[in-house]
Amino acid sequence: MTDSEKKRKLIFDRYAENLLFLKKEKIIDIELKYASTYICPICLDHFPVTALDQSIENPLTLEDAPPKSLGGKANILTCKKCNNTCGHEIDKHLTERMQELDFHKFLPNIEFSAKFEINGNAIQGKISIDENGTLTAYHMDKNNHPVKLQDYIKTAKKDTLINLQIDKKQVNPLNLQIALLKTGYLLTFEKYGYSLILDKSYERIRQQLRNPLEIIYPLDFWFKAPLPKKVYGVPFIIEKGLEAICPIFPLKTNASERVFGTIIPLTTKPIEEVISRLKEKFKVQKRFPVRFDPMNGDVDYLTDLEAIIKMKTWINNLK
Ligand SMILES: [Zn+2]
Repeated sequence: MTDSEKKRKLIFDRYAENLLFLKKEKIIDIELKYASTYICPICLDHFPVTALDQSIENPLTLEDAPPKSLGGKANILTCKKCNNTCGHEIDKHLTERMQELDFHKFLPNIEFSAKFEINGNAIQGKISIDENGTLTAYHMDKNNHPVKLQDYIKTAKKDTLINLQIDKKQVNPLNLQIALLKTGYLLTFEKYGYSLILDKSYERIRQQLRNPLEIIYPLDFWFKAPLPKKVYGVPFIIEKGLEAICPIFPLKTNASERVFGTIIPLTTKPIEEVISRLKEKFKVQKRFPVRFDPMNGDVDYLTDLEAIIKMKTWINNLK
């Protein structure tokens, strides 16, 4: 068995057991298709353990939340179909946006394409910023007309003013937000297993992830949060009237680490209302205005019946 095969099997077993456990304890009421079933958190299709075989048409694949390119780890499984519709293509926009932000701050360890122009003669090149913050511009033969490049090199003297134009990346703001929503939703699934996400109220998030070209979920659900490391994870906001799940995670590039928070609704609360109330509070108080449930890193919400019942009771009493 390779490391990925082992990892997929471990994840499959843990979540398949969670399903059986929740069914046995009557926390969820569901017919499972197989003796050992994994439900893809995005399409809710049922998969048997044989779906770990990567040569079948729609196998279960490792999914990284946050994206691997931003420091995330493969921690759950989604089916290949879902991994394709809202996988790399969507995550790419988030990664590129983070790199773009690094560049605007001139953070070290990054490289960007740009146009350099002197007196109307423009050539293509690259800028890199090293560990010490030293900025180097260079031009490749293969991307430029040889005569134009020679002209440019001749005219570019020590104090020549060079007009610099940074190439805009093709970042789609909708895809960028869907990548944040996907990370928040999948982290919720990773932490709380099937006890929350099977509720039909989460169908709206799943629809949004499966249809990345439409706007289905309210797009102001996320915020950049200067929050301390101790709240990273998937806490609940317990402030009265603002109750919600709040996955908080860092996105890391070579040069930076930014912390994002996302608002995932509870089954009993309309999400628009929670988001607009949170934004109102932000306006009044500049610092993050809400209280979280005490972080209890030791609780395993996939197997600890007492913790699951306590959480479900709290949510149901909000009705
Ligand atoms: Zn799926």
